[in-house]
Amino acid sequence: MSKMRAVQATGPKAGLQIVERPVPEPGAGAVRVKIGACGICHSDSMTVEGHWPGIRYPRVPGHEIAGVVDATGPSVTAWKVGDRVGVGWHGGHCGFCDACRRGDFLSCRTGEIPGISYDGGYADYMIAPAVALARIPDGLSEIEAAPLMCAGITVYNSLRNSGARAGDVVAILGLGGLGHLGVQFAAKAGFMTVGIARGKDKEPLARKLGAMHYIDSQSGDPAAELQKLGGASVILATVTSGKAMSAVLGGLAVGGKLVVLGAAADPIEVPPIVLIGGRRSIAGWPSGTSIDSEDTLAFSVQTGVRSMNEVFPLPRAPEAYARMMSGEARFRVVLDARG
Ligand SMILES: [Zn+2]
Ligand SMILES: [Zn+2]
Repeated sequence: MSKMRAVQATGPKAGLQIVERPVPEPGAGAVRVKIGACGICHSDSMTVEGHWPGIRYPRVPGHEIAGVVDATGPSVTAWKVGDRVGVGWHGGHCGFCDACRRGDFLSCRTGEIPGISYDGGYADYMIAPAVALARIPDGLSEIEAAPLMCAGITVYNSLRNSGARAGDVVAILGLGGLGHLGVQFAAKAGFMTVGIARGKDKEPLARKLGAMHYIDSQSGDPAAELQKLGGASVILATVTSGKAMSAVLGGLAVGGKLVVLGAAADPIEVPPIVLIGGRRSIAGWPSGTSIDSEDTLAFSVQTGVRSMNEVFPLPRAPEAYARMMSGEARFRVVLDARG
């Protein structure tokens, strides 16, 4: 039996260890993916730190996967060996629950997530349900595609479902892993794109990524600055601070929406009157399904949107994970399984 490398968490806060495992065989409805690259997402800490309830160890983290179909299980007809595929947060759904019967696969009661429900992408191979696969177009390398499978789809899919129309003022709060992609997608989608971050020094980056305006949230009132531009139809909140989100709410235009992507621990504080008079709203958004990922990859090829990555070879996964957790990475950390 042939062997592969895998990087696994053995328990909550037990760190990551590199082990040798047998190469797995795909069952019915599933494929084996030979992994080329896997992005490291902050949500991987759910597995490594043990925050996800009921997780079973050992578990291989990773849900930003890019690779090639290497074997197909029984009853898989739409995919064949050699297809380039990605796997993201949407790792499978039951097809039978009320949400699935309404076509809302991401809200499936027993929905699966790679790296949490089953072994994910910190390895040479993984098994994935065929419904979780997104086709990777020519023109995107595996390293380029991987971070688009979670960070990319989350900002792209939330923006295109936000109700904002071309020409509207759309602000991206935060210029990190999600935000640096959010600015690019917003600009390429034709929004009047505003970058908001702390400090004057982020302005050149925001403008390079396509922002037409930049607001330094430290040097003044970001809500007032947004109102000077007419108010934002959408503010995409990629930061992990409820306080920072609260500070920009007053910058929403009439009918505007704060779209929350960053899982902040502290609450968002909002004076009810801000919501009532101007019909403003606050909503969250969770990534998307495999076909939304495929759309994200296609749009990225079409428009040139790319994640800025720090790349580590697979055996250095513990160091790469620590780099992601430090918050210092510019901007996504990606494991190269070919390295
Ligand atoms: Zn993620
Ligand atoms: Zn379901």
